[in-house]
Amino acid sequence: MSEAKSFRWSKCGCEEFYCNLRKHIIVIVNGSNKFLKEHKEVKRSYTDEEPYGPYECTNCGMLYNELNE
Ligand SMILES: [Zn+2]
Repeated sequence: MSEAKSFRWSKCGCEEFYCNLRKHIIVIVNGSNKFLKEHKEVKRSYTDEEPYGPYECTNCGMLYNELNE
């Protein structure tokens, strides 16, 4: 995601949006298959996957299907 392509809605000027991210997380469990903690590299997986809409403006609540003009 480059700065030049960054979407900003003209009416409120917001640059942050709620959206969805489907990701594959490696976790650590105990012998009873109960979640203990996330794998140490789990933070990186947030940027490995492409987030998708619908997007909701964090400021005004406007909904978008895609982040483009
Ligand atoms: Zn907004």
